[in-house]
Amino acid sequence: MPARILDGLKIRDEIFAELKTQIAQLHAQGIRPGLAAVLVGENPASQIYVKSKIAACEQLGMASWMHTPPATVSTDYMLQLVADLNNDDNVDGILVQLPLPSQIDSKRVLEAVHPSKDVDGFHPVSMGMLVSNRPGLVACTPAGCREMLRRYKVPIEGANAVVLGRSDIVGKPMALLLLHANATVTICHSKTRNIADVIRGADILVAAIGKAGFVQPDWIRPGAAVIDVGTNKVTDASEAARLLHNFPERLEKFRAKGNALIGDVHPDAVQIAGSLSPVPGGVGPMTITMLMSNTVKAARLRRATKALGASQPI
Ligand code: NAP
Repeated sequence: MPARILDGLKIRDEIFAELKTQIAQLHAQGIRPGLAAVLVGENPASQIYVKSKIAACEQLGMASWMHTPPATVSTDYMLQLVADLNNDDNVDGILVQLPLPSQIDSKRVLEAVHPSKDVDGFHPVSMGMLVSNRPGLVACTPAGCREMLRRYKVPIEGANAVVLGRSDIVGKPMALLLLHANATVTICHSKTRNIADVIRGADILVAAIGKAGFVQPDWIRPGAAVIDVGTNKVTDASEAARLLHNFPERLEKFRAKGNALIGDVHPDAVQIAGSLSPVPGGVGPMTITMLMSNTVKAARLRRATKALGASQPI
């Protein structure tokens, strides 16, 4: 029997409906959660991402601002811009779209974002809060994967979870989220030996390495929950044929378009896994959803800090 599909679009709609209610409650208190996005230069992919984030804010009735400095700006310029956004009380979340041009010290800029407004969850303070399992802002993609498992009621406690990939923005935070949910977690990376055997032991697999169809169907334990984070644009016809030979409609679309979006897990895994997040339509929509959720959370946490009489943490 094919796997149950973990539908990111469906969960996005559910969460958006919940966020709308929360935002209406905040409006009633005179608060309008707001996201400031910084897009440096004119990278077309980044422009699409940022525009879709701003559109999501508008859809939910949140405030949004887009700052678009030219590709030639310096690190000092960016640090000043981030400082201004940190000091702007209307701004609850700051998003610096990556990648930044090479002359800019990306790390310094990201670390200049105040942790209370770090809706991407990339700041070392946010990571530290996650390590110590304290409430904070968690990186959007792993938070989205966690939310998917929660909403589809995939049992995590006591499960063997394998996270494929150890990046700061996906693999590491994902492993921590699973650990805090009481899974036994193994993290695999490019130096891991016998990766297929490690994956064969997984009740839950989260794949985030950026290699199209890397995880073979026979590596997957029958019935396992598989979250496929990978988003790989395949343009080679023979690779597409190898990956999509059991999906004639997708192969047809590939022929018409010249490319197909493929996850890190071979699409045939749908016949073995118990549940599976598809690519596209799985984790992708969850990332932007969690960004919206983080912005509302940031608005709440910051106002709560102020209401408690603590000095504004800026
Ligand atoms: P990344 O920073 O490039 O990290 C890749 C990780 O995979 C590294 O830890 C690397 O190991 C590991 N790796 C690479 N090749 C491997 C192999 N053959 N065997 C085992 N491990 C291997 O990537 P990322 O930013 O985490 O993103 C991973 C994927 O998720 C990409 O496809 C990306 O496009 C996608 N993504 C999707 C979303 C979304 O919203 N859907 C969001 C973020 C990322 P080492 O550490 O040893 O080098």
